[in-house]
Amino acid sequence: MNDSEPTNDPPNPFEQIQRQFEEMFKNANVTVMPGTEGMFGMQAEPETGAEEPSAEDSKEDVLERIRQFHLKPRDVKDYLDRFVIKQDEAKRAMAVAMCDHYNHVRRCLEKPERADHSYAKQNVILLGPTGVGKTYLMRTISRLIGVPYVKADATKFSETGYMGYDVEDIVRDLVKAADGDVELAQYGIIYIDEIDKIASQSTQGSKDVSGRGVQVNLLKLMEESDVNLLGQGDMMGQMQAMMEMQRTGNAQRKNTISTRHMLFIVSGAFMTMPEIIRKRLNTSAIGFGHVDAQQNQTMSDPETLKQVETKDFVEFGYEPEFIGRLPVRVGFDPLDTGDLELILEQAEDNILSKYIEDFEGYGITAAFEGDALHAIASRAESEGTGARGLMTVLENALRHFKFELPSTVVKEFSVTREMIEAPDAVLIRLLEENKSAQQSMELEEVQQFAARFHAQHDLALIFGDASAREVVRQASESGRTVYTICERLFKDLPYGLKLIAQHTGKREFDVTAELIDDPDGVLSRMVLESYRGSETTEES
Ligand code: ADP
Repeated sequence: MNDSEPTNDPPNPFEQIQRQFEEMFKNANVTVMPGTEGMFGMQAEPETGAEEPSAEDSKEDVLERIRQFHLKPRDVKDYLDRFVIKQDEAKRAMAVAMCDHYNHVRRCLEKPERADHSYAKQNVILLGPTGVGKTYLMRTISRLIGVPYVKADATKFSETGYMGYDVEDIVRDLVKAADGDVELAQYGIIYIDEIDKIASQSTQGSKDVSGRGVQVNLLKLMEESDVNLLGQGDMMGQMQAMMEMQRTGNAQRKNTISTRHMLFIVSGAFMTMPEIIRKRLNTSAIGFGHVDAQQNQTMSDPETLKQVETKDFVEFGYEPEFIGRLPVRVGFDPLDTGDLELILEQAEDNILSKYIEDFEGYGITAAFEGDALHAIASRAESEGTGARGLMTVLENALRHFKFELPSTVVKEFSVTREMIEAPDAVLIRLLEENKSAQQSMELEEVQQFAARFHAQHDLALIFGDASAREVVRQASESGRTVYTICERLFKDLPYGLKLIAQHTGKREFDVTAELIDDPDGVLSRMVLESYRGSETTEES
């Protein structure tokens, strides 16, 4: 037999299992953040300016893009301005840190032999309250650069990984975010939130060992270390490696990844930090005989946070070596009503566009009035969760509209200030205003049910005006759709009517008020009568 001919041999069970594992690995639950979808680079290289990467770009395109990194901080800032409102200082600082980092990576790739070992990575620490755009800014910037990106919460980490998440797991997650591509993952961005939760509590007497342990482990990663691609708990990965070895006779070619070119961003709210900074500022003001201690006391928390120094972080509970690896410090401002309104009005892809799209999915146009935007922003501010409050307010106001309107005749509506303040009353009014049109639509739905019934069973149901209205009334009273009510009322009709048709040849039936009132009883009677009728005909 020719070698190339297909054989009828049963499939090799070993290969089958291996394929199954490959599938499982592909489907493994990966912490890939939204925004990483377009990680594969960008389109044709622009001379200047920042263009968004395209999802079609291949891994080679991304690597080429990193090798030829050409963006200037202003390009990056311009791009961020389209999405992130306010936070000017943060956008500038991040733009510079990003460009410095990827310029350095490019230089290392151009001339690996001249790699500058004295270069200190521009790892960044972001400080600011919740919902002000820290994560959003990071996600947006990674999308622009096109590199893989992952986010984790520092609270998940345990020192040993036992019963928890090993700090190295996040590097492995980055590899997953890069579709398992180790070469690409080494240039990725790792973002760790809630970093203030791993400060050791030095003020409470003895030092908290676990926080320090995690800091030490993270420190190694932020500097440069080789991470095993297979975590201790990664049974699937371990088995895959074993199979690979059995199949090829070799251990996996590359089983570690270096963190040397990865950029680490950490962030936290640092609620108690302003107090620490004020204390330091006051002590030094008094020490120098200055009288501006009063002024320091009245400075707002966000202003105070911007004056943070290494010694404040140490006082807060960080090891000096750890905080020393985070040279770029960026303070985020809280967002007031005006900022939140700007987000709704100007930021591309903001939450409002998602609501508008959701309604459009049902062919409904939602038009937001200026007054309503102000009301949403002002309510959101009082939530105290930054821009996240926008989502809470919109959800509260529009939840019932989203549920009800798709089944009604309403194809457009205005979102007004009143609607944000009293959504239920406005919804009731809107439905009331459209009541007669709604009723006509539902009467039409009864006829549509009859048409479907005819197509399915070749039996005609004739609904008169009174019976159609009765079905509509029952639907509205029970809060169900006309279709559900018809299905329920007439579920046994096909079988019974077919029997009648066999006995009598009749194929058209009036839907009477009695039939709607007692479908089972009336149908049984009709079937019986049809039997009697056919017997009488046979006798005569
Ligand atoms: P955090 O500062 O806690 O990381 P996020 O960045 O996750 O907050 O913000 C939550 C959401 O609020 C974002 O996904 C984004 O839609 C919106 N948002 C927050 N801050 C801004 C901002 N400054 N400009 C535009 N949108 C923002």
